[in-house]
Amino acid sequence: MSDNVSNQDSRRRVAFVGSECYPFVKTGGLGDVMYALPRALIRENCDVRVILPLYRCIPEKFRNKLVYRGSFMMDQTMEGRTFFVGIMETVMDGVIYDFIDNREFFDWGNPYTGLWEDIPKYCFFSKASLAILNYLEWVPDVIHCHDWQASLVPLYLRTRFNDTPVGRARVVLTIHNLRFQGICGIQHLKYWSGLPDGLFDYPILKQNEDEANMFKGGLAFADKITTVSRTYAEEIQTPAYGEHLEGHLSYHSPKLCGIVNGIDVEQWDSAKDPLLAADYDAGNFRELKKENKKALQEKLGLEPDENKIVIGLISRLTDQKGLDLVNAIIPRMLDGNTQIVVLGTGDPRYENAFRYYEEENKGTFCAYISYNETLAHLIYAGADALLVPSMFEPCGLTQLIAMRYGTIPIVRETGGLKDTVLPYDAERNEGNGFTFGPYNADLLLEAVNAAKTLYFTERWRWDEMVARDMEKDVSWEASARAYLALYDEIIAWDKEE
Ligand code: ADP
Repeated sequence: MSDNVSNQDSRRRVAFVGSECYPFVKTGGLGDVMYALPRALIRENCDVRVILPLYRCIPEKFRNKLVYRGSFMMDQTMEGRTFFVGIMETVMDGVIYDFIDNREFFDWGNPYTGLWEDIPKYCFFSKASLAILNYLEWVPDVIHCHDWQASLVPLYLRTRFNDTPVGRARVVLTIHNLRFQGICGIQHLKYWSGLPDGLFDYPILKQNEDEANMFKGGLAFADKITTVSRTYAEEIQTPAYGEHLEGHLSYHSPKLCGIVNGIDVEQWDSAKDPLLAADYDAGNFRELKKENKKALQEKLGLEPDENKIVIGLISRLTDQKGLDLVNAIIPRMLDGNTQIVVLGTGDPRYENAFRYYEEENKGTFCAYISYNETLAHLIYAGADALLVPSMFEPCGLTQLIAMRYGTIPIVRETGGLKDTVLPYDAERNEGNGFTFGPYNADLLLEAVNAAKTLYFTERWRWDEMVARDMEKDVSWEASARAYLALYDEIIAWDKEE
């Protein structure tokens, strides 16, 4: 039993290992979780270190603050080639961030550059994460790994590092998105990971006769697997959502659970948001939220008219997000009383389709094809409703942010969308938004029309829902406590052993 768990009240030590973290580097929801959950855990009596690669794309203003904590050479690959591991550190609001420095692996620019080089990159990253914990003599109670990029950590932990100080740690692996798994030729992974041949078997890393799967191996070796909503935890055990790992996940289901994400309620606070035209809260949104609608319409060249319903979409433009459904109904949504704002980048097919609609519908449709956090804030505040019709959605953050900003979500009942958006029930006057079930454009249109009907005919009901949504607890607190309970459960195994 480790000293730092000798009594229930002692502070738990948790190391987070993942490939991105706001504000240093973020491409999606994973970056938000890596930022917000450690901060919430600090408030729950934990010490947290976040381990990240030192990518070249991390802005100078952050790099300049990093302090050198040491370096060493580490062997990697089947041949035992050695590589430099530097540790650059910064502390922000009580969370320690350790960046692993190595130019060969992390100087490519963006975090993800292509699977061929990403596989070696994240083999090195996973192993170096454990090596730096030993080097820093900071042994966590729990190592919490995120997605496939950190999924070799459990394997290294239980092999190379098992009899080293860090080997005492328990390990949790969280699935943020099962679509990406780190699959490559067996020889490629064998070479770069340097992991023993015995792990390249079907129950662990082997995917098929030719390929290995990093995520699969990590899931087999983790003490606990979590994913970011209860519904997604169920869904991934079925062929429709399991991305070919449904059998593996069903087998490991006794150690699988779902804990829904929260959002950082300080970062996302309509009452104190410098990026808005007017701040507002659940008490005064009726007068003030519309100032943001006006500012949004002005900024994007939409007809300035507070009586139009403004429907927003903030998303990576990929198939996952249900954009083919949106595409199919845009002409039917634009009925003279509706304006649509799309903010996103991604698949050129969708970018071009949305550009086309803007061209055809100047003044009522805006396609802002870019990644723009400032505009995202204004859309969350200025729109009346937000579309999230995803094909699958492990948790989804945009519906949570929308609710916090009093913007009614219109979502498909899948994953975290189902767990966080209670459908509107007119009879009981309850619910947080409008929902639809099967993946079908007509059903999405029905949900949009139901939203419009309420908006245009019973605005006081709509406003009651806005107030309900703004007051809904979407913070990290409850989720952080659920993670803590999980950590405590596995930390206690040491005592039982
Ligand atoms: P995913 O991680 O699958 O992309 P999530 O809903 O979990 O989806 O998280 C998306 C996050 O990225 C949210 O914080 C959202 O506001 C932000 N986001 C997505 N697209 C853009 C964009 N084009 N500009 C600014 N922020 C965006």
